[in-house]
Amino acid sequence: MEADFNKAEWSFFVTALKEEARDVLWKVGSTVEPETLLKSVMQDLEELGPKPESEETRTQEEIWKQVRERLLEAAYATRPYCVKCGECCSNGSPTLSIDDMNLFESRTLKPNDVFTLRKGETVFDSRLETSVPNELERIKIRETPGEKTCIFYQKWNRECSIYDQRPEQCRIQECWAPNSVAYTRKSPLNRRRLFEAAGDIWKIIEKHEERCSYEDLSREISRLAATKGQTVENILEFLSFDHHVREFVSEKLGIGAETLDLLFGRPLKDSLKFYGLTLDERKDGTFVLRLIEDQE
Ligand code: SF4
Repeated sequence: MEADFNKAEWSFFVTALKEEARDVLWKVGSTVEPETLLKSVMQDLEELGPKPESEETRTQEEIWKQVRERLLEAAYATRPYCVKCGECCSNGSPTLSIDDMNLFESRTLKPNDVFTLRKGETVFDSRLETSVPNELERIKIRETPGEKTCIFYQKWNRECSIYDQRPEQCRIQECWAPNSVAYTRKSPLNRRRLFEAAGDIWKIIEKHEERCSYEDLSREISRLAATKGQTVENILEFLSFDHHVREFVSEKLGIGAETLDLLFGRPLKDSLKFYGLTLDERKDGTFVLRLIEDQE
């Protein structure tokens, strides 16, 4: 491979590889030397590395993504057990399984530590690296605003503040084997499990799901163009019901805004951005739905 490049290009690639290796080893908390890691995967890296210009179809970014993924995989293989590196904790909080219900009973988790990902809601699938509709309702631990870091991860000492009682996903997930299916077979916790025995609040949750589901919202939004905007009223009705249920439960039952996200999922209006829409309030208190590009 070296023969296809001039010396400067090759030496730059090797130096950059060493830096990447150092970085991924630090990330996963491995004590292996960067040179040792590189040696163990050099054959793979030579295949993944840049090809002569006439043969290369990938961008620089794509090449480095593939190289980095291979290095990360090799770095994890040097320590196939949890070393509390915090990498999973910084890349998305866990969703809960039925066996995690006891974490609410023991007060390890409070209602405002979690929220509901409703069925049909748009979520980011890190394996597919794209946004997809959520297939099954799930209860998820909150993340630090603007980040994907679990709220229980303490950056200052790189530790989980509930490590001994951490959710099942955190205990079972093997970061060093990203394709492991151990966790995905587990039964997810949902609102029915948590609230069905609670009487009135469960009835309100069911009514909310019936009157403004994500399936209905997506369907009406997808029909906007074909109906020349006639489905706008239906969409506004879903948004209004979602808004008023939250207000009603908050006022009548004294439930705080963050706990409402467990009862009813995140506010429906926040999901509009995934459809390229936004909701504005007029001076008279009525709402208007706009395409995001209309405002730019
Ligand atoms: S609960 Fe603890 S172990 Fe699990 S993702 Fe959050 S910080 Fe990490």
